[in-house]
Amino acid sequence: MKRDRKVKILATLGPASAEEDMIAKLHEAGADLFRINMSHSSHDMMRTLIGRIRAVEARSGRPIGILADLQGPKLRVGKFANGSVELKAGQTFTLDDIDEPGNENRVFLPHPEILESVQPGHRLLIDDGKLHLLAQECDGHRIVCTVVSGNKISDRKGVSLPDTLLAVGALTEKDRSDLDAVLATGSVDWVALSFIQRPEDLAEVRKIARGRVGIMSKIEKPQAIERIEEIIELSDALMVARGDLGVEMPLEAVPGLQKQLTRACRRVGKPVVVATQMLESMISAAVPTRAEVSDVATAVFEGADAIMLSAESASGQYPVEAVSTMAAIARTVERDPYYSNIIHAQRPQPEPTGADAISLASREIAETLKLSAIVCYTASGNTGLRAARERPSVPVIALSPIIETARRLSVVWGMHCVVTEDASDLDDMVNRACRIVHAEGFGKPGDRLIITAGVPLGTPGATNMLRIAYIGSDGMSGV
Ligand code: PGA
Ligand code: MN
Repeated sequence: MKRDRKVKILATLGPASAEEDMIAKLHEAGADLFRINMSHSSHDMMRTLIGRIRAVEARSGRPIGILADLQGPKLRVGKFANGSVELKAGQTFTLDDIDEPGNENRVFLPHPEILESVQPGHRLLIDDGKLHLLAQECDGHRIVCTVVSGNKISDRKGVSLPDTLLAVGALTEKDRSDLDAVLATGSVDWVALSFIQRPEDLAEVRKIARGRVGIMSKIEKPQAIERIEEIIELSDALMVARGDLGVEMPLEAVPGLQKQLTRACRRVGKPVVVATQMLESMISAAVPTRAEVSDVATAVFEGADAIMLSAESASGQYPVEAVSTMAAIARTVERDPYYSNIIHAQRPQPEPTGADAISLASREIAETLKLSAIVCYTASGNTGLRAARERPSVPVIALSPIIETARRLSVVWGMHCVVTEDASDLDDMVNRACRIVHAEGFGKPGDRLIITAGVPLGTPGATNMLRIAYIGSDGMSGV
Protein backbone atom coordinates (compact mmCIF):
# COMPACT_ATOMS: atom_id res chain seq x y z
CA MET A 1 0.00 0.00 0.00
CA LYS A 2 1.44 3.31 -1.15
CA ARG A 3 0.33 6.66 0.26
CA ASP A 4 0.02 9.61 -2.07
CA ARG A 5 1.05 12.20 0.49
CA LYS A 6 4.03 13.05 2.67
CA VAL A 7 2.50 14.07 5.99
CA LYS A 8 1.50 11.17 8.26
CA ILE A 9 -1.79 10.66 10.05
CA LEU A 10 -1.83 9.58 13.68
CA ALA A 11 -5.25 8.38 14.82
CA THR A 12 -6.20 7.89 18.47
CA LEU A 13 -8.03 4.65 19.22
CA GLY A 14 -10.94 4.48 21.64
CA PRO A 15 -14.46 3.12 22.02
CA ALA A 16 -15.39 4.16 18.47
CA SER A 17 -12.36 2.45 16.95
CA ALA A 18 -11.37 -0.47 19.14
CA GLU A 19 -12.52 -3.31 16.88
CA GLU A 20 -10.08 -4.87 14.46
CA ASP A 21 -12.14 -4.21 11.34
CA MET A 22 -12.50 -0.54 12.32
CA ILE A 23 -8.72 -0.27 12.86
CA ALA A 24 -8.27 -1.83 9.42
CA LYS A 25 -10.67 0.70 7.91
CA LEU A 26 -8.83 3.60 9.54
CA HIS A 27 -5.52 2.27 8.25
CA GLU A 28 -6.93 1.87 4.78
CA ALA A 29 -8.40 5.38 4.89
CA GLY A 30 -4.96 6.75 5.72
CA ALA A 31 -3.97 6.31 9.38
CA ASP A 32 -0.23 5.54 9.42
CA LEU A 33 0.08 5.02 13.14
CA PHE A 34 -2.18 4.76 16.15
CA ARG A 35 -2.25 6.34 19.59
CA ILE A 36 -3.40 4.45 22.66
CA ASN A 37 -4.33 6.94 25.37
CA MET A 38 -3.25 5.48 28.71
CA SER A 39 -5.52 7.97 30.53
CA HIS A 40 -8.46 5.93 29.30
CA SER A 41 -7.09 2.44 28.56
CA SER A 42 -6.57 -0.38 31.04
CA HIS A 43 -3.49 -2.55 30.55
CA ASP A 44 -5.73 -5.31 29.20
CA MET A 45 -7.31 -2.93 26.72
CA MET A 46 -3.89 -1.65 25.66
CA ARG A 47 -2.69 -5.21 24.98
CA THR A 48 -5.89 -6.02 23.09
CA LEU A 49 -5.53 -2.94 20.91
CA ILE A 50 -1.88 -3.72 20.20
CA GLY A 51 -2.82 -7.26 19.15
CA ARG A 52 -5.46 -5.92 16.78
CA ILE A 53 -3.15 -3.30 15.27
CA ARG A 54 -0.48 -5.94 14.71
CA ALA A 55 -3.07 -8.18 13.02
CA VAL A 56 -4.01 -5.32 10.68
CA GLU A 57 -0.31 -4.71 10.05
CA ALA A 58 0.28 -8.38 9.18
CA ARG A 59 -2.62 -8.38 6.74
CA SER A 60 -1.65 -5.11 5.07
CA GLY A 61 2.07 -5.85 4.93
CA ARG A 62 2.86 -2.25 5.93
CA PRO A 63 4.69 -1.41 9.17
CA ILE A 64 2.37 0.48 11.55
CA GLY A 65 3.59 2.61 14.45
CA ILE A 66 2.02 2.43 17.90
CA LEU A 67 2.22 5.35 20.32
CA ALA A 68 1.31 4.87 23.97
CA ASP A 69 0.45 8.22 25.53
CA LEU A 70 1.11 8.41 29.28
CA GLN A 71 -1.25 10.56 31.31
CA GLY A 72 1.47 12.42 33.22
CA PRO A 73 0.83 14.59 36.29
CA LYS A 74 -2.68 15.65 35.36
CA LEU A 75 -3.95 17.39 38.49
CA ARG A 76 -7.49 17.04 39.76
CA VAL A 77 -9.47 18.34 42.73
CA GLY A 78 -11.25 15.89 45.05
CA LYS A 79 -15.00 15.36 45.34
CA PHE A 80 -17.84 17.51 46.65
CA ALA A 81 -20.51 16.52 49.15
CA ASN A 82 -23.18 17.30 46.57
CA GLY A 83 -21.22 16.54 43.40
CA SER A 84 -20.63 20.20 42.56
CA VAL A 85 -20.86 23.80 43.84
CA GLU A 86 -21.30 27.16 42.14
CA LEU A 87 -18.49 29.66 42.81
CA LYS A 88 -19.04 33.41 42.42
CA ALA A 89 -16.50 36.02 41.33
CA GLY A 90 -14.95 37.78 44.32
CA GLN A 91 -15.55 35.03 46.88
CA THR A 92 -12.81 33.12 48.69
CA PHE A 93 -12.23 29.46 47.94
CA THR A 94 -9.59 27.15 49.46
CA LEU A 95 -7.82 24.02 48.18
CA ASP A 96 -6.38 22.00 51.05
CA ASP A 97 -4.92 18.70 52.23
CA ILE A 98 -8.00 17.55 54.16
CA ASP A 99 -9.39 14.39 52.58
CA GLU A 100 -13.08 15.22 53.07
CA PRO A 101 -15.87 16.08 50.62
CA GLY A 102 -15.81 19.73 49.50
CA ASN A 103 -18.36 22.54 49.82
CA GLU A 104 -18.69 26.15 48.60
CA ASN A 105 -15.70 27.20 50.76
CA ARG A 106 -13.14 24.47 50.13
CA VAL A 107 -12.15 21.27 48.35
CA PHE A 108 -9.49 18.59 48.82
CA LEU A 109 -6.47 18.79 46.48
CA PRO A 110 -4.92 15.29 46.56
CA HIS A 111 -1.46 16.49 45.45
CA PRO A 112 0.70 17.53 48.45
CA GLU A 113 3.58 18.57 46.17
CA ILE A 114 1.28 21.09 44.46
CA LEU A 115 0.17 22.59 47.76
CA GLU A 116 3.87 23.26 48.36
CA SER A 117 4.64 24.69 44.91
CA VAL A 118 1.92 27.28 44.41
CA GLN A 119 2.79 30.86 45.43
CA PRO A 120 0.56 33.89 46.04
CA GLY A 121 -0.29 35.53 42.70
CA HIS A 122 -0.33 32.23 40.76
CA ARG A 123 -3.40 31.38 38.68
CA LEU A 124 -5.34 28.14 39.13
CA LEU A 125 -7.45 27.24 36.10
CA ILE A 126 -10.11 24.62 36.75
CA ASP A 127 -11.87 22.49 34.13
CA ASP A 128 -9.90 23.67 31.05
CA GLY A 129 -10.01 27.28 32.21
CA LYS A 130 -13.76 27.52 32.78
CA LEU A 131 -13.13 28.64 36.35
CA HIS A 132 -10.28 31.00 37.23
CA LEU A 133 -8.84 31.31 40.77
CA LEU A 134 -5.99 33.48 42.03
CA ALA A 135 -3.84 32.23 44.94
CA GLN A 136 -3.66 34.68 47.86
CA GLU A 137 -2.20 32.76 50.81
CA CYS A 138 -0.22 29.54 50.69
CA ASP A 139 1.19 27.71 53.70
CA GLY A 140 2.03 24.33 52.18
CA HIS A 141 -1.21 22.78 53.44
CA ARG A 142 -3.74 25.03 51.81
CA ILE A 143 -4.06 27.55 49.03
CA VAL A 144 -6.54 30.32 49.80
CA CYS A 145 -7.79 31.79 46.54
CA THR A 146 -10.00 34.57 45.25
CA VAL A 147 -12.43 33.55 42.54
CA VAL A 148 -11.63 35.76 39.52
CA SER A 149 -14.32 34.44 37.22
CA GLY A 150 -16.98 32.21 38.66
CA ASN A 151 -18.48 28.98 37.40
CA LYS A 152 -19.55 25.54 38.54
CA ILE A 153 -16.87 23.24 39.96
CA SER A 154 -17.59 19.54 40.24
CA ASP A 155 -15.98 16.27 41.32
CA ARG A 156 -12.47 15.48 40.05
CA LYS A 157 -12.18 18.44 37.68
CA GLY A 158 -8.73 19.15 36.23
CA VAL A 159 -6.49 21.91 37.58
CA SER A 160 -3.96 23.77 35.39
CA LEU A 161 -1.24 25.89 36.96
CA PRO A 162 0.31 28.01 34.20
CA ASP A 163 2.42 30.11 36.59
CA THR A 164 3.77 27.34 38.78
CA LEU A 165 6.87 25.22 38.27
CA LEU A 166 5.55 22.06 39.86
CA ALA A 167 7.68 20.02 42.21
CA VAL A 168 6.75 16.84 40.38
CA GLY A 169 8.61 14.72 37.86
CA ALA A 170 7.03 13.74 34.57
CA LEU A 171 6.14 10.24 35.76
CA THR A 172 3.45 9.53 38.33
CA GLU A 173 3.01 6.11 39.98
CA LYS A 174 0.36 5.34 37.37
CA ASP A 175 2.69 6.38 34.55
CA ARG A 176 5.46 4.13 35.89
CA SER A 177 3.17 1.16 36.00
CA ASP A 178 1.74 2.01 32.56
CA LEU A 179 5.24 2.38 31.14
CA ASP A 180 6.25 -1.02 32.54
CA ALA A 181 3.20 -2.60 30.95
CA VAL A 182 3.88 -0.83 27.66
CA LEU A 183 7.53 -1.94 27.57
CA ALA A 184 6.57 -5.49 28.54
CA THR A 185 4.53 -5.84 25.35
CA GLY A 186 7.72 -5.32 23.33
CA SER A 187 5.48 -4.02 20.57
CA VAL A 188 5.09 -0.29 21.22
CA ASP A 189 7.20 2.10 19.15
CA TRP A 190 6.66 5.47 20.81
CA VAL A 191 5.82 6.65 24.30
CA ALA A 192 4.41 10.15 24.71
CA LEU A 193 5.07 12.02 27.97
CA SER A 194 2.46 14.51 29.12
CA PHE A 195 3.06 17.79 30.96
CA ILE A 196 6.84 17.65 30.91
CA GLN A 197 8.34 20.82 32.37
CA ARG A 198 12.10 20.47 32.24
CA PRO A 199 14.80 18.45 30.49
CA GLU A 200 15.40 16.45 33.67
CA ASP A 201 11.89 15.02 33.31
CA LEU A 202 13.12 13.06 30.33
CA ALA A 203 16.14 11.56 32.02
CA GLU A 204 14.20 9.11 34.16
CA VAL A 205 12.14 7.88 31.23
CA ARG A 206 15.19 7.46 29.03
CA LYS A 207 16.79 5.38 31.74
CA ILE A 208 13.76 3.09 32.04
CA ALA A 209 13.12 2.85 28.31
CA ARG A 210 16.73 2.05 27.33
CA GLY A 211 16.06 2.76 23.68
CA ARG A 212 13.23 0.23 23.42
CA VAL A 213 10.73 2.97 22.51
CA GLY A 214 11.09 6.42 21.01
CA ILE A 215 10.29 9.22 23.45
CA MET A 216 7.86 11.88 22.32
CA SER A 217 7.59 14.97 24.53
CA LYS A 218 4.18 16.60 24.63
CA ILE A 219 4.60 20.34 24.83
CA GLU A 220 1.68 21.60 26.87
CA LYS A 221 3.26 23.72 29.64
CA PRO A 222 4.82 27.18 29.42
CA GLN A 223 7.73 25.88 31.51
CA ALA A 224 8.55 23.42 28.71
CA ILE A 225 8.56 26.22 26.13
CA GLU A 226 11.11 28.11 28.21
CA ARG A 227 13.62 25.26 27.90
CA ILE A 228 12.52 23.92 24.56
CA GLU A 229 15.95 23.55 22.95
CA GLU A 230 17.21 21.28 25.74
CA ILE A 231 13.95 19.34 25.76
CA ILE A 232 14.13 18.72 22.02
CA GLU A 233 17.72 17.60 22.42
CA LEU A 234 16.68 14.88 24.89
CA SER A 235 13.53 13.85 23.01
CA ASP A 236 13.16 11.65 19.95
CA ALA A 237 10.07 13.55 18.81
CA LEU A 238 7.68 16.31 19.89
CA MET A 239 3.94 16.74 20.03
CA VAL A 240 2.41 20.20 19.88
CA ALA A 241 -0.32 19.35 22.41
CA ARG A 242 -2.59 22.28 21.67
CA GLY A 243 -5.35 21.16 24.02
CA ASP A 244 -3.58 21.69 27.32
CA LEU A 245 -1.17 24.22 25.84
CA GLY A 246 -4.17 26.38 25.01
CA VAL A 247 -5.32 26.26 28.62
CA GLU A 248 -1.95 27.12 30.11
CA MET A 249 -1.03 29.77 27.53
CA PRO A 250 -3.24 32.44 25.96
CA LEU A 251 -5.10 30.71 23.13
CA GLU A 252 -3.90 33.27 20.62
CA ALA A 253 -0.28 32.34 21.41
CA VAL A 254 -0.78 28.72 20.28
CA PRO A 255 -0.51 29.20 16.47
CA GLY A 256 2.83 31.02 16.83
CA LEU A 257 4.11 28.36 19.21
CA GLN A 258 3.03 25.66 16.76
CA LYS A 259 5.20 27.31 14.08
CA GLN A 260 8.10 27.74 16.48
CA LEU A 261 8.00 24.09 17.60
CA THR A 262 7.50 22.69 14.10
CA ARG A 263 10.47 24.62 12.78
CA ALA A 264 12.69 23.82 15.76
CA CYS A 265 12.10 20.10 15.18
CA ARG A 266 12.69 20.37 11.47
CA ARG A 267 16.01 22.09 12.13
CA VAL A 268 17.29 19.16 14.16
CA GLY A 269 15.53 16.51 12.08
CA LYS A 270 13.23 15.14 14.77
CA PRO A 271 9.60 14.29 14.03
CA VAL A 272 6.88 16.68 15.21
CA VAL A 273 3.17 15.92 15.56
CA VAL A 274 0.49 18.63 15.56
CA ALA A 275 -2.40 17.57 17.76
CA THR A 276 -5.84 18.33 19.14
CA GLN A 277 -9.10 19.69 17.77
CA MET A 278 -7.87 19.44 14.20
CA LEU A 279 -11.27 18.27 12.95
CA GLU A 280 -13.16 18.64 16.23
CA SER A 281 -16.60 19.17 14.71
CA MET A 282 -16.29 15.79 12.96
CA ILE A 283 -16.89 14.15 16.35
CA SER A 284 -20.56 14.59 15.49
CA ALA A 285 -20.69 15.74 11.86
CA ALA A 286 -19.67 14.03 8.63
CA VAL A 287 -18.03 17.18 7.26
CA PRO A 288 -15.57 19.56 8.95
CA THR A 289 -15.82 23.34 9.24
CA ARG A 290 -13.90 25.58 6.84
CA ALA A 291 -11.76 26.74 9.75
CA GLU A 292 -10.77 23.15 10.61
CA VAL A 293 -9.82 22.39 7.02
CA SER A 294 -7.67 25.50 7.09
CA ASP A 295 -6.08 24.43 10.38
CA VAL A 296 -5.11 21.00 9.03
CA ALA A 297 -3.82 22.67 5.86
CA THR A 298 -1.66 25.05 7.91
CA ALA A 299 0.06 22.16 9.69
CA VAL A 300 0.68 20.45 6.34
CA PHE A 301 2.03 23.64 4.71
CA GLU A 302 4.29 24.09 7.69
CA GLY A 303 5.85 20.67 7.04
CA ALA A 304 4.76 18.91 10.22
CA ASP A 305 5.66 15.22 10.18
CA ALA A 306 2.26 14.08 11.38
CA ILE A 307 -1.20 15.40 12.16
CA MET A 308 -3.27 13.80 14.85
CA LEU A 309 -6.90 12.90 15.45
CA SER A 310 -8.08 12.64 19.06
CA ALA A 311 -11.77 12.22 19.92
CA GLU A 312 -12.58 12.43 16.20
CA SER A 313 -11.26 8.88 15.74
CA ALA A 314 -11.43 7.63 19.35
CA SER A 315 -15.01 8.35 20.29
CA GLY A 316 -16.63 10.31 17.47
CA GLN A 317 -19.37 9.22 15.13
CA TYR A 318 -17.26 9.52 11.95
CA PRO A 319 -13.79 8.07 12.59
CA VAL A 320 -13.20 6.84 9.03
CA GLU A 321 -14.47 10.07 7.50
CA ALA A 322 -12.19 12.06 9.80
CA VAL A 323 -9.14 10.12 8.60
CA SER A 324 -10.10 10.34 4.93
CA THR A 325 -10.83 14.07 5.29
CA MET A 326 -7.34 14.63 6.72
CA ALA A 327 -5.82 12.56 3.94
CA ALA A 328 -7.71 14.53 1.28
CA ILE A 329 -6.62 17.87 2.73
CA ALA A 330 -3.01 16.70 2.90
CA ARG A 331 -3.03 15.41 -0.66
CA THR A 332 -4.43 18.67 -2.02
CA VAL A 333 -2.17 20.96 0.00
CA GLU A 334 0.92 19.01 -1.03
CA ARG A 335 0.01 19.56 -4.69
CA ASP A 336 -0.60 23.27 -4.19
CA PRO A 337 1.86 25.48 -6.10
CA TYR A 338 2.75 27.33 -2.87
CA TYR A 339 3.56 24.16 -0.98
CA SER A 340 7.06 23.43 -2.24
CA ASN A 341 8.07 27.10 -1.92
CA ILE A 342 7.02 27.19 1.71
CA ILE A 343 8.69 23.88 2.52
CA HIS A 344 11.81 24.88 0.61
CA ALA A 345 12.08 28.26 2.36
CA GLN A 346 12.55 26.55 5.71
CA ARG A 347 15.17 24.07 4.59
CA PRO A 348 17.76 23.83 7.34
CA GLN A 349 21.50 23.89 6.78
CA PRO A 350 23.14 20.47 6.69
CA GLU A 351 25.38 19.54 9.58
CA PRO A 352 28.93 18.60 8.62
CA THR A 353 28.32 14.84 8.58
CA GLY A 354 28.31 12.19 5.88
CA ALA A 355 24.60 11.55 6.43
CA ASP A 356 23.65 15.21 5.91
CA ALA A 357 25.96 15.85 2.97
CA ILE A 358 24.65 12.73 1.24
CA SER A 359 21.01 13.52 2.09
CA LEU A 360 21.36 16.98 0.60
CA ALA A 361 23.18 15.72 -2.48
CA SER A 362 20.70 12.91 -3.04
CA ARG A 363 17.74 15.31 -2.85
CA GLU A 364 19.36 17.65 -5.37
CA ILE A 365 20.29 14.83 -7.72
CA ALA A 366 16.86 13.22 -7.42
CA GLU A 367 15.07 16.50 -8.11
CA THR A 368 17.42 17.57 -10.91
CA LEU A 369 17.21 14.24 -12.72
CA LYS A 370 13.57 13.69 -11.80
CA LEU A 371 14.36 10.30 -10.31
CA SER A 372 11.51 8.18 -9.04
CA ALA A 373 12.74 7.66 -5.47
CA ILE A 374 15.47 8.07 -2.90
CA VAL A 375 16.18 4.72 -1.28
CA CYS A 376 18.08 4.73 1.97
CA TYR A 377 19.37 1.71 3.79
CA THR A 378 18.95 2.52 7.47
CA ALA A 379 19.34 0.24 10.46
CA SER A 380 18.80 2.66 13.32
CA GLY A 381 16.57 4.99 11.28
CA ASN A 382 19.00 7.88 11.50
CA THR A 383 19.83 8.00 7.78
CA GLY A 384 16.09 7.98 7.11
CA LEU A 385 15.52 10.91 9.47
CA ARG A 386 18.28 12.95 7.86
CA ALA A 387 16.85 12.24 4.39
CA ALA A 388 13.36 13.34 5.52
CA ARG A 389 14.80 16.53 7.04
CA GLU A 390 15.61 17.62 3.48
CA ARG A 391 11.90 17.31 2.61
CA PRO A 392 12.62 16.06 -0.93
CA SER A 393 9.81 16.17 -3.46
CA VAL A 394 10.45 12.56 -4.54
CA PRO A 395 9.42 9.62 -2.32
CA VAL A 396 11.89 8.42 0.31
CA ILE A 397 11.97 4.65 0.72
CA ALA A 398 13.67 3.49 3.91
CA LEU A 399 14.92 -0.10 3.84
CA SER A 400 15.67 -1.60 7.20
CA PRO A 401 16.29 -5.13 8.44
CA ILE A 402 14.72 -4.10 11.75
CA ILE A 403 10.92 -4.05 11.96
CA GLU A 404 11.03 -1.75 15.01
CA THR A 405 12.93 0.86 12.98
CA ALA A 406 10.38 0.67 10.18
CA ARG A 407 7.49 1.04 12.63
CA ARG A 408 9.09 3.94 14.44
CA LEU A 409 9.75 5.77 11.17
CA SER A 410 6.04 5.56 10.31
CA VAL A 411 5.60 8.96 12.01
CA VAL A 412 8.21 10.62 9.80
CA TRP A 413 7.32 12.94 6.91
CA GLY A 414 7.43 11.33 3.49
CA MET A 415 8.93 8.06 4.66
CA HIS A 416 7.82 4.77 3.13
CA CYS A 417 9.46 1.98 5.11
CA VAL A 418 10.05 -1.56 3.94
CA VAL A 419 11.56 -4.32 6.04
CA THR A 420 14.19 -6.24 4.14
CA GLU A 421 17.36 -8.15 4.99
CA ASP A 422 20.63 -6.28 4.74
CA ALA A 423 22.14 -6.56 1.27
CA SER A 424 25.03 -9.00 1.02
CA ASP A 425 27.08 -6.95 -1.46
CA LEU A 426 26.82 -3.94 -3.74
CA ASP A 427 24.98 -5.79 -6.54
CA ASP A 428 22.48 -7.15 -4.07
CA MET A 429 22.02 -3.65 -2.64
CA VAL A 430 21.21 -2.18 -6.05
CA ASN A 431 19.01 -5.08 -7.14
CA ARG A 432 17.12 -5.16 -3.89
CA ALA A 433 16.46 -1.40 -3.96
CA CYS A 434 15.22 -1.55 -7.58
CA ARG A 435 13.05 -4.59 -6.95
CA ILE A 436 11.41 -3.01 -3.90
CA VAL A 437 10.82 0.37 -5.55
CA HIS A 438 9.16 -1.44 -8.44
CA ALA A 439 7.15 -3.83 -6.27
CA GLU A 440 5.94 -1.03 -3.98
CA GLY A 441 4.68 0.96 -6.95
CA PHE A 442 7.19 3.82 -6.87
CA GLY A 443 8.92 3.08 -10.18
CA LYS A 444 8.70 1.04 -13.37
CA PRO A 445 11.35 -0.59 -15.57
CA GLY A 446 13.64 2.08 -17.02
CA ASP A 447 13.02 4.53 -14.15
CA ARG A 448 15.99 5.77 -12.20
CA LEU A 449 16.43 6.00 -8.47
CA ILE A 450 19.10 6.95 -6.01
CA ILE A 451 20.47 4.72 -3.27
CA THR A 452 22.19 5.92 -0.11
CA ALA A 453 23.82 3.68 2.47
CA GLY A 454 26.65 3.28 4.90
CA VAL A 455 28.90 0.53 3.61
CA PRO A 456 29.65 -1.93 5.00
CA LEU A 457 25.96 -2.15 6.01
CA GLY A 458 25.26 -2.42 9.68
CA THR A 459 27.81 0.20 10.77
CA PRO A 460 25.66 2.85 12.42
CA GLY A 461 26.29 6.49 11.66
CA ALA A 462 28.45 5.86 8.61
CA THR A 463 26.42 6.97 5.60
CA ASN A 464 29.08 7.13 2.91
CA MET A 465 27.58 5.95 -0.37
CA LEU A 466 25.37 7.42 -3.05
CA ARG A 467 24.52 5.55 -6.22
CA ILE A 468 22.19 6.17 -9.16
CA ALA A 469 20.59 3.03 -10.58
CA TYR A 470 18.05 2.02 -13.25
CA ILE A 471 15.27 -0.41 -12.68
CA GLY A 472 16.01 -3.21 -15.15
CA SER A 473 13.57 -4.28 -17.83
CA ASP A 474 12.37 -7.22 -15.70
CA GLY A 475 11.63 -4.87 -12.79
CA MET A 476 13.63 -7.23 -10.61
CA SER A 477 17.17 -6.01 -10.92
CA GLY A 478 19.12 -2.80 -11.14
CA VAL A 479 21.62 -1.52 -13.64
P1 PGA B 1 -4.23 14.90 25.55
O1 PGA B 1 -2.98 15.64 24.95
O2 PGA B 1 -5.17 14.62 24.42
O3 PGA B 1 -3.66 13.68 26.15
O4 PGA B 1 -4.73 15.87 26.57
C1 PGA B 1 -3.04 16.45 23.83
C2 PGA B 1 -3.28 17.91 24.17
O5 PGA B 1 -3.29 18.31 25.33
O6 PGA B 1 -3.43 18.65 23.19
MN1 MN C 1 -2.85 17.12 27.04
